[in-house]
Amino acid sequence: MRIAALIVAAGRGTRAAAQGSGPKQYAVIGGKTVLGRAIGAFVGHSKIDEVKVVIHADDAQLYSGVATEFESEKLSAPAIGGATRQASVLRGLEALASSAPDIVLIHDAARPFVSDKTIASVIAALGERPGALAALAVTDTLKRASDGIITETIARVGLWRAQTPQGFHFGPILAAHRKAADAGNDTFTDDAAIAEWAGLDVAIVEDSSGNVKITTAEDLEVADQQLARAIEPRVGTGFDVHRFCEGDHVWLGGIKIPHTHKLEGHSDADVVLHALTDALLGAIGDGDIGQHFPPSDQKWKGAASKLFLEDAVRRVRERGGRVGNVDITVLAEAPRVGPHRPAMQDLIGGVLGISADRVGIKATTTEQMGFTGRREGIAAMATAMVFIPSEQTSA
Ligand code: MG
Repeated sequence: MRIAALIVAAGRGTRAAAQGSGPKQYAVIGGKTVLGRAIGAFVGHSKIDEVKVVIHADDAQLYSGVATEFESEKLSAPAIGGATRQASVLRGLEALASSAPDIVLIHDAARPFVSDKTIASVIAALGERPGALAALAVTDTLKRASDGIITETIARVGLWRAQTPQGFHFGPILAAHRKAADAGNDTFTDDAAIAEWAGLDVAIVEDSSGNVKITTAEDLEVADQQLARAIEPRVGTGFDVHRFCEGDHVWLGGIKIPHTHKLEGHSDADVVLHALTDALLGAIGDGDIGQHFPPSDQKWKGAASKLFLEDAVRRVRERGGRVGNVDITVLAEAPRVGPHRPAMQDLIGGVLGISADRVGIKATTTEQMGFTGRREGIAAMATAMVFIPSEQTSA
């Protein structure tokens, strides 16, 4: 079963844009664009095979700035929207038709906090019905008013607030949209309304209140503040030592450096990457390198230590986290680290997904004192800053 997501981002968002910040879907909250967050929710979902965004013709450059954040092949070329939301969705569906999805989830770019669970629940509901939408039960008492005076209290039983994603079997929703366009019927405010009009059953999937729609400049500010609170900085430290033995090179920071000795160890004995791996594991409270890669395990004999670092980064990302910066000090009389610093920064930055200027590499001798001073081995210390979403907030 092929499942596509169609993210509608062609609106002008005039209410939020009144502040002069451009279309709201390109506004930045918590360091990422609203649209980038919406795309990320679907690209990162295991059940989604393709993500297509419908953009405004004037936004091609803004969009390409957002799209470059994603290396995923799931993100296909954008479609250009029409004069109304309804027309934009139809153009997006026509563009998706060539990849023939079985199911399409149509989502508003202005809902950046849609959860994995909501996406999965809408998909699951489509096993029973041709349509399903995320919705919230109405909990406020509803009043009808005329000239500022209440004329009626409306029973809220059975009333729902329609959200997105709204999912459909692809063929029927494309046919319904085409039929509505052919009939010149262009006043539908969501895709479920078109499905209902075409006689398709649409199931309700109860959503969480976190899937808010960002409409006004104030919504943007509130979301930005919530995200700032929700990201927790964590710090970790690591230390490692390996002794010299006979050989002609050492591995430091993933770089092979000619030397009078090599470092003894089960793996390639790269003290820099070992200390750094421990710093990352320390920041997320997830044991240490010896626990995850026991020296007793023959599998790691002669292993490139980059593997250990990659595993620690994976553990950070699994928690939704990212690395901010790292700082390393090498303690050795020789070899000299300075000439290899740029190569180490590039390699480590590449593994961590950060720029080279976020990788500090420093070296010092110990003035010929102690084991490093007697050239018996090399030690390294590392500090890592990691940002992790805090668990108390759903945003
Ligand atoms: Mg070690």
